[in-house]
Amino acid sequence: MVTETETQTEVRAVRPLDGKVAVVTGASRGIGAAITRELAAYGADLVINYATSAGRAEELKRELDAAGYGGTYLTVQADISAVTQVEGLMKAAWEQFGKIDILINNAGITRDRTFRKMTPQEWSEVIDTNLTGTFNCLHAAAPYLIEQGGGKVINVSSMIALSGNIGQANYAAAKAGIIGLTKTVALEWARYNITVNCVAPGFTETDMLAKVPDNYREQICERIPLHRFGKPEEVAKAVRFFCVDADYITGEVLGVNGGLYM
Ligand code: NAP
Repeated sequence: MVTETETQTEVRAVRPLDGKVAVVTGASRGIGAAITRELAAYGADLVINYATSAGRAEELKRELDAAGYGGTYLTVQADISAVTQVEGLMKAAWEQFGKIDILINNAGITRDRTFRKMTPQEWSEVIDTNLTGTFNCLHAAAPYLIEQGGGKVINVSSMIALSGNIGQANYAAAKAGIIGLTKTVALEWARYNITVNCVAPGFTETDMLAKVPDNYREQICERIPLHRFGKPEEVAKAVRFFCVDADYITGEVLGVNGGLYM
């Protein structure tokens, strides 16, 4: 865990997200779990979505229940690439809490291969989960967010959307699509008092990065101006900023990449 400053500890004590309901997709592990912890510490009630890791999701719920933040935490299995499952996810949030204030579209996958060897299936799986999954969640949450009279959406894109990366044509396309989607929905939903922003993490220490071969990881690390990979908690702080302190910011993309892409 990243240690926090005294001021951060004081702000968390006020719990500015008290009474707010946040849905986090892909919350069982990695960046999604860190976002969930961060928003819970700031007082939010959380819907912890996962695809297959029921045990990890329940473990996170138990951790938050024991932490004494005072929120309520609900785990919901749903594959974000499946429309009916996503509708079920948002309905479950609504039935439990009667509202949705914050939607974090975080769930994502990689299927890395250089372009000429990439199969149509590898292309589709990544587009279906990362890009269409984000569309599905936005679409299913829209009526609830609008009924609520305002809200915050944060989509997790990637630095790779902006820089490209060998072996990640599918992923770069999906993540770049998320940026275009974010800006367009930000324009369309401003009238409902809903802000829509992106975070674009660089290489961050999660299971996703662990899949990258050791020698390539070392090469990447050498190129990062801050000389280390990011921590999931550091991405979570950027997401929390959008949720807590960014009422007049919409359609933006915030890089969290140690200076690797400027
Ligand atoms: P991760 O450790 O592999 O975790 C992925 C999460 O997404 C898990 O909770 C997983 O659920 C969930 N998920 C995957 N497919 C899903 C589906 N179809 N429906 C619902 N949930 C699904 O990945 P991460 O590194 O934390 O990545 C989180 C987000 O940050 C992703 O969008 C990723 O593209 C983005 N990102 C990551 C990095 C990085 O370096 N790590 C950099 C830039 C952007 P299960 O546990 O149930 O499988």
